[in-house]
Amino acid sequence: MKTERSKALFEKAQQFIPGGVNSPVRAFKAVGGNPLFIKSAKGAYMYDEDDNAYIDMINSWGPMILGHDYENVESQVALAIKDSLSFGAPTAKEIEIAELIISMVPSIEKVRMVNSGTEATMSAIRLARGYTQRDKVIKFEGCYHGHGDSFLIAAGSGAITMGEPDSPGVTKGTAKDTLTAPFNNLQAVKDLVEGNKGEVAAIILEPVAGNMGCVLPAEGFLQGLRTLCDQEGIILIFDEVMTGFRLSKGGAQELFGINPDLTTLGKIIGGGMPVGAYGGKKEIMDFVSPQGPVYQAGTLSGNPVAMTAGMVMLNYLNDHSEIYTQLNETTGKIVKGFNENLNKLNLNYTINQIGSMFSIFFSDTPVFDFESAKSSDLTLFGKYFREMLHKGVYLAPSQFETLFVSTAIGEKEIEQIVSANFEALEKIHS
Ligand SMILES: *Cc1c(COP(=O)(O)O)cnc(C)c1O
Repeated sequence: MKTERSKALFEKAQQFIPGGVNSPVRAFKAVGGNPLFIKSAKGAYMYDEDDNAYIDMINSWGPMILGHDYENVESQVALAIKDSLSFGAPTAKEIEIAELIISMVPSIEKVRMVNSGTEATMSAIRLARGYTQRDKVIKFEGCYHGHGDSFLIAAGSGAITMGEPDSPGVTKGTAKDTLTAPFNNLQAVKDLVEGNKGEVAAIILEPVAGNMGCVLPAEGFLQGLRTLCDQEGIILIFDEVMTGFRLSKGGAQELFGINPDLTTLGKIIGGGMPVGAYGGKKEIMDFVSPQGPVYQAGTLSGNPVAMTAGMVMLNYLNDHSEIYTQLNETTGKIVKGFNENLNKLNLNYTINQIGSMFSIFFSDTPVFDFESAKSSDLTLFGKYFREMLHKGVYLAPSQFETLFVSTAIGEKEIEQIVSANFEALEKIHS
């Protein structure tokens, strides 16, 4: 595999951009080697600057659930551009997308558009604090909620990968208001709430975690949090930036039948454009300015071109709920193939899967929280990642990231992924 151009570009990029990338995990630091510079993508495939093709299993970290270059998006975005890229004034499109989101996501009655998942979670937590007039928030170890100060405490994903779970620059004052509990440990949350009686504004979590690898909620965990929040007047926030419109058209909350008070959205909602949103109960959302006292704003929020891309994506998903069955089947086949490979090779690694999200952990024990995820052999994962890349399969460059399956992955790609997995596992254990 020739990667000369990517290598040269990375060297140049490092002169002008910190670490050569605009988001840390892209740098391949956790897996070794140089990052690939991508030129284009179509359907299930990404092409790098040296013209190598890869089956894409990160899908821009979630948004490209229909694969790349979805023609409908293209044509409508091209049309929208003709009306100008931005106005900074209300548009009819913003009502359309708000109505659509509200119709799709069970617990959302009103919604505010922002520009990223990070912005959505930062805004939601401010709203929860303003509404309850309490300061503290509870988050879970290994859950990632973007890079807002309040969340860079035991954050998953890039923060673990970089070995900087607590970033310099987050003040002690901010950190002291964020309490953390192990994922799936309801008793630990109850203890925190009891120890901080009347002070907890919100509990925020990924209802299915994707940022410590794919970790599912244990039976009763989400319901337990819902009940606790109801008893204690705490705002329950589902961060569905990853799971929203992915696990079902109404996200994890629809799949599990649990309604949070607030929901944060991102990734798929913009169809590949930078979009986020937060929404929930009317009475809470009406606390946001200009209706209420909690300030939150954005020069480019609700941008007409981004809204167009989002609308096309969400409309498609709304009208084609059969794609969720398709995604389950495709992912099921990949996971079945992986498990057969593990059996053939007498290996016992853990695979977690739900819908089109899955992870193979290089650990022999079940993975149900951050501690158990961390029992994975990261050196082995790095070798596995590089082998898979050589065989034309582009995985997330970290053990602590879920993989995503898109509808563009068909039988041919499934076969290639499964056989690459066998060869990679065999090689790294030889
Ligand atoms: C990606 C992600 C975020 C952050 O979204 P950005 O658009 O990267 O700021 C927040 N929460 C979860 C669960 C995510 O997966």
